[in-house]
Amino acid sequence: MSAALLEVDGLRVEFPTRRGTLVAVDGVSFSIARGEVLGMVGESGAGKSLTGNAIIGLLEPPGRIAAGSVRLAGKRIDGLPPDQIRRIRGRRIGAIFQDPLTSLNPLYTVGEQLVETILTHLDIGARAARRRALELLGEVGIPAPAERIDHYPHQFSGGMRQRVVIALALSAEPELIVADEPTTALDVSIQAQIIGLLRRLGAERGASVLLITHDMGVIAETADRVAVMYAGRIAEIGPVRRVLESPLHPYTEGLMAAIPAVGRDVDSLAQIDGAMPRLHEIPAGCAFHPRCPRAVAGCDRDRPGLVPIGGSEVACLLYRPEPGEAAHG
Ligand code: SF4
Repeated sequence: MSAALLEVDGLRVEFPTRRGTLVAVDGVSFSIARGEVLGMVGESGAGKSLTGNAIIGLLEPPGRIAAGSVRLAGKRIDGLPPDQIRRIRGRRIGAIFQDPLTSLNPLYTVGEQLVETILTHLDIGARAARRRALELLGEVGIPAPAERIDHYPHQFSGGMRQRVVIALALSAEPELIVADEPTTALDVSIQAQIIGLLRRLGAERGASVLLITHDMGVIAETADRVAVMYAGRIAEIGPVRRVLESPLHPYTEGLMAAIPAVGRDVDSLAQIDGAMPRLHEIPAGCAFHPRCPRAVAGCDRDRPGLVPIGGSEVACLLYRPEPGEAAHG
């Protein structure tokens, strides 16, 4: 059995515009093993949410996958007709977004929404589905689920609503959970609870998680590995401890210059001068070169690909193998 549940290979997401084609995700490749939590971190506009949306088939037109592939348990899921990807999204991939209200219908009780999702995706009857909905609400930490199951979304606080969304995402027993900024809208104390919940539920159920966030602290608390995105590409990917403790890419070094804590927003880090380039202004060569404190000759011309270094992979010319020398792994 292949250990990888999700395999993304050379993913490219483009937006055709009147001024030309913008490339928002450029040759992104990574995999997630069964039961693994991969954190994807970067400033806003780095392409991380678009990567997540491309995987789950929710790219907003005119955005489109222009190249590459997405495989779930070995089968391609990019380019499927909308009804097929919708089925996969409900049954095999659970999605959690920043705003729980985008996932919940205000006109139905949370119980009705859970039961409907369970009935759509699992082969069980209405009574069993309601029992399952109650169990799920209990599992995600909703107090008095027997009472709360008949309440409407607006009767829950933000943190409790996000727990309901997690229950909804888990209700069809998915193999993969894609969580995009799941805690950003919540108070810091609630964030920690939701992170703990995601980590525990993923581990207990053997589900893989793609956790997309701009918050380094959330990654540090939750992820097994982390992919650092910059200007639509992966700058560095590796085991979370290793990347946190000894970052290789100058951009990651900048992100890590302060000890991560929950609530740390990479958009607000002062260690790196300048801002991430807009899509129509991505510089030639290494996209980070105008901000890079370690730039060398060639950084404004050669675009580095990922090379393996001691368990991580890094896209930086400083680690380019000498001609004739294999990259050390
Ligand atoms: Fe800096 Fe050059 Fe490495 Fe890019 S390739 S991160 S500019 S040293």
